[in-house]
Amino acid sequence: MVHVLETFLQELTESQEGAVRWDKGALLVLAGPGSGKTRVLTCRIGRLLDESRGQRFRILALTFTNKAAHEMAQRVTQLVPGLEDRAVIDTFHGFCAQVLRQHGVHVGVKTNFAVFSDKADRQAVLEDALRRAAQRYARDASRLLSYIDSLKARLVPPAEAESELTKYPGIGPEDARRISHAYRNYEGELQRANALDFSSLLIKVYELFGYPAMVRHYQQVYRFWHIDEFQDTNNAQYQLLRRMAGREFRDIFAVADDDQIIYEWNGASVSRIEEFRRDFCSKTKFLPTNFRCPARIVEVANHLVSRNYRRVAAKPDSKAARQKTTGQARTIQCRKFHTDDAEARGIAAEIAQMDRTAREQTAILARNRYLLERVLDALQQCRVPAAVLKRRDDFLTPEMRWLVACLDQFTRPRDLRSFRTVVMSFNELAEVALDLEQLVSLAEAKQATCFSLWMENIRNANMQSPAAQYVGTIEELWERRLKPKAAVQQITHEFNRDRSNHDLQTDLKAWHQLTNKFRFRNGNPSLNRFLQQLQMHSKEPDVSHGTVRLATIHGAKGLEFDDIYLIGMAEEVLPSWQSIRRGDQSAELEEERRNCFVAITRTRRNLHLSWADKYSGRQKQPSRFLGEMFGTDNFGHIQCPD
Ligand code: ATP
Ligand code: MG
Repeated sequence: MVHVLETFLQELTESQEGAVRWDKGALLVLAGPGSGKTRVLTCRIGRLLDESRGQRFRILALTFTNKAAHEMAQRVTQLVPGLEDRAVIDTFHGFCAQVLRQHGVHVGVKTNFAVFSDKADRQAVLEDALRRAAQRYARDASRLLSYIDSLKARLVPPAEAESELTKYPGIGPEDARRISHAYRNYEGELQRANALDFSSLLIKVYELFGYPAMVRHYQQVYRFWHIDEFQDTNNAQYQLLRRMAGREFRDIFAVADDDQIIYEWNGASVSRIEEFRRDFCSKTKFLPTNFRCPARIVEVANHLVSRNYRRVAAKPDSKAARQKTTGQARTIQCRKFHTDDAEARGIAAEIAQMDRTAREQTAILARNRYLLERVLDALQQCRVPAAVLKRRDDFLTPEMRWLVACLDQFTRPRDLRSFRTVVMSFNELAEVALDLEQLVSLAEAKQATCFSLWMENIRNANMQSPAAQYVGTIEELWERRLKPKAAVQQITHEFNRDRSNHDLQTDLKAWHQLTNKFRFRNGNPSLNRFLQQLQMHSKEPDVSHGTVRLATIHGAKGLEFDDIYLIGMAEEVLPSWQSIRRGDQSAELEEERRNCFVAITRTRRNLHLSWADKYSGRQKQPSRFLGEMFGTDNFGHIQCPD
């Protein structure tokens, strides 16, 4: 056995060990934050890999964010170095993309499909579709898209959309017809572009697993399945899992916390935990000890969440592994400010006093991104390196957007969307004004590809701009005198000369990290895979040393930090105005409470709670959640009971 794995196994508690040693059949590990669910899951993968050396089957682990998948993969590598290749650890969507690359042809998906993840891109697809169908109402594409997304999240096909929509509150028959038309046209447009959005990735694999031979194949290749953060599985993901397991496969290991469901708006539900137990005849194990948070935080978190009704009754309350400290600095600090600006400046000034190592272990959390932006500005004014943890859908600079679009054209020359990016981003970086529409009609008339016509135009223009050189390199790639890797290296090397362009340097850093992570190689299958992975991942580089993280509560799921600053603890902020409108006992208000619960339980050492009298100029009261945590309603004072 590998030394690291052995050490980890020895550190486990009895209940954790019981879960790690779980052998056959379905198991649900239901436990609170910081109880070691992710640790148990990765240790189990390590143990299974270690005990099956020399065998060829694989182990599957699914989670919700690329970051979480990446961290899990790193932990497995650390536990069983050299065996990690037999573990496929990915997001649901990433896994579906892999499946479709291999077998998508059976459900009409070509291997070089594009993934449209960006909302703006998808909205543009819908607008194009509506224009093409001469359908009116293109103005409310954003609203239509959210209905389409909600139908797709429940695997409702276009043919059934109309009748399904009449069950939605506030949708009349005319509206239902219109949305279902838009849905059908949107799907047609995606197909025309040989593209899939995130929901389609799941839907297509669901369709594929309608073939029993496919299901058998995946069950044989992946002998054991794991799911982290199972509580946030939506309907489509769960139906996919059921179909993939069929009637017999039961070796599924899921870890969940019903008190951390924060995607109810996206279809997650406490009843799914019950469904899992019923559908897979799963056993349940509890891990009662919280290893992450100080005792006082475990206590207030339990107080808070006990106010919710929609919970799994059998799960015991968390107990802290650590004793309550006395005589030391307060574990929890509460601060009140007059305005949101003062709150942002106050928090930034406090963090500016920390050293680099402490800053790196600090996160500022808020319910909404706009609150974080204020703190980010304030930190920048104090010259504190800070980064908002959020997905960046596209590169910042026209240089990198152009390069990626050229690679797209190389594999998918008929894709007009990436061609548009080629022309527009090159126009911007070379300060020229080639006309997109003109190029497209000329290409149609000449029956040429748009991209080769564009290159010809650039060549004939005899440009003095250094950007013309890049096009020369791309032409060599197009004519197959250069391989993709060499062409990209030449071009990024040229980009790298521009040291003063901060955004370009940031993009290049992200690019190098992504190309290393996804093993960018030559050859078309590899280029397709690389481009699809690129489309599904954030285009921002890893956070550098000494940087403070800012994140929404959703973005901080599963993570932990020494110091957590939770800002905006005011009524109509957390809980949100919408949830308050729904009423005290509403599902929405309970979800807000869980958001607060998730946020405070990210803390390893200190929790700093703050609120202001006014947000965006409007008077607010302190959040009811403060009262629920500390058992007092009087939050006019600054210190909280510790
Ligand atoms: P969340 O619900 O927030 O995702 P989790 O249940 O997945 O939390 P982990 O992230 O696996 O919890 O573990 C929380 C912390 O506790 C980690 O730092 C982990 O290393 C530590 N930990 C877990 N089990 C033990 C143990 N038996 N001994 C020491 N530390 C432990
Ligand atoms: Mg976890």
